[in-house]
Amino acid sequence: MTALQSESGVLAGDERMLIDGELVHTASGAKFDVINPATEEVAGQATDGTIADMERAVGAARRAFEETEWSRDVEFRHHCLMQLSDALEANKENLRRMVITEVGTPVSMTGGQIEMPLAEVGHWADYGKRFEYLVDTGLHDTGMGMARRSIQFDPIGVVGAITPWNSPLYLNVAETVPALMAGNAVVLKPAQLTPWSGSELVRIVAEHTDIPAGIFNVVVSNANEVGAALSADPRVDMVTFTGSTAVGRAILAAGAPTVKRVMLELGGKSAHIVLDDADFTTVLPGAAAMACAMSGQSCVLPSRILLPRSRYEEGLQIMKAAMEAMAVGDPWDPSMFQGPQISKVQQDKILGLIQTGISDGARLITGGGVPEGLSKGYYIQPTILADVDPDATVAQNEIFGPVLCVIPYDTEDEAIAIANNSIYGLSGQVSSADEGRAMNVALRMRTGSITVNGGGFFGLTSPFGGYKQSGLGRRNGEQGFEEYLEIKTIGLPAN
Ligand code: NAD
Repeated sequence: MTALQSESGVLAGDERMLIDGELVHTASGAKFDVINPATEEVAGQATDGTIADMERAVGAARRAFEETEWSRDVEFRHHCLMQLSDALEANKENLRRMVITEVGTPVSMTGGQIEMPLAEVGHWADYGKRFEYLVDTGLHDTGMGMARRSIQFDPIGVVGAITPWNSPLYLNVAETVPALMAGNAVVLKPAQLTPWSGSELVRIVAEHTDIPAGIFNVVVSNANEVGAALSADPRVDMVTFTGSTAVGRAILAAGAPTVKRVMLELGGKSAHIVLDDADFTTVLPGAAAMACAMSGQSCVLPSRILLPRSRYEEGLQIMKAAMEAMAVGDPWDPSMFQGPQISKVQQDKILGLIQTGISDGARLITGGGVPEGLSKGYYIQPTILADVDPDATVAQNEIFGPVLCVIPYDTEDEAIAIANNSIYGLSGQVSSADEGRAMNVALRMRTGSITVNGGGFFGLTSPFGGYKQSGLGRRNGEQGFEEYLEIKTIGLPAN
């Protein structure tokens, strides 16, 4: 139950979940193991919540939303979320160790896993405090005469949040904190491979904040059915989900009978168009680093590299050298850049996809297996597949590993067509010596965010989300807060 510490720095999280204000185990006492992906050892356990636990959590959230002042008291919400912000900050280094233990993120790469979510809490607390929930918009023409009009932004009600394992603490915060600050009650179902990023978050909520019982619940479980029960429950008004497109489709279908609001942040197969005038010696090592950061387990990773045929072999050699120089190994070693994959299942899946790529005609430039000396832990060599057919399995499906698929092109139009040849549209990249030229290409790419010449698109004030089957709705920015609000239009006499 309490944190378990060993000499290596490994740190287990709380085993319990939070339902109706109480940190509890499931009634049967059943637990499941949490595996450290860097060692394949059991790092600790988590309670194995059931559909009955989920039903109780949703009931508590419904009651708390209806019966407490939470949805109406903005000052109190701000107070509670600032308590959470302070408590997370005070626990920051333990959270870092716990995330390294359950995700395998190298210590040098934990900024996105720790600093980013912690910054979110205060940001949304302040944003939500300043937000105008009732706006007098003055007179409007109804078509049958003039009337005064006010717009009320009203919490949606009970929000179900379902998250994946790749950035678990960040996504648990990003899916729940703006929803809470907007006045909703929340039930979170964290990913089974990373339960502690959910259970530690709500242990801190229970022990350090005045958030009323039932307003924030987390149901930890090893079963996908528990997430499915949340997404189908008629008492849930909205589901916010980050994960694979396949599960996103199931959640959308489960919400249809009760017309739930559904926000989806799904998969990607983003393309990086490298134009023929780009500085390959800076751009391509950067592309290799992106592929290995988070062991390639990033939804926005530009995993398809489009190189001009005129400089194709030159580009491959630069990328090969960069991939072979990547520091892969023990996440606790500060010199490591790439850690293990999350699980044996993912490791096997990635190794299998590399073989599929090769049998479909791709040329293996480097990698393709398990790094020498790293047979323990779920490691994969940084890998490049070249001559990939734009329609091949590896060009169309997310690999979610340190694997780049390189595709040659002859003209800019062809490069844009290849980039857009995907069911996904989450992110992308264009590199050129000429910013105007790169911008013209970026404007034609069908994707929710894009980097031009290394410029970052991600930030708390920047809308983030996917085109096509990469998602519905936007996180962050004004849109990201308003996703969690209903809009009520109120007509009043003109006087
Ligand atoms: P996943 O879709 O397998 O699982 C995500 C969550 O859904 C887990 O908590 C799981 O228990 C739950 N779940 C599974 N089946 C369910 C069902 N039928 N109903 C309800 N919930 C269910 O995803 P994953 O393997 O954990 O994460 C990797 C995926 O997440 C990748 O596709 C990646 O691109 C995507 N991702 C997207 C973003 C983004 O912002 N677009 C960010 C991170 C990860």
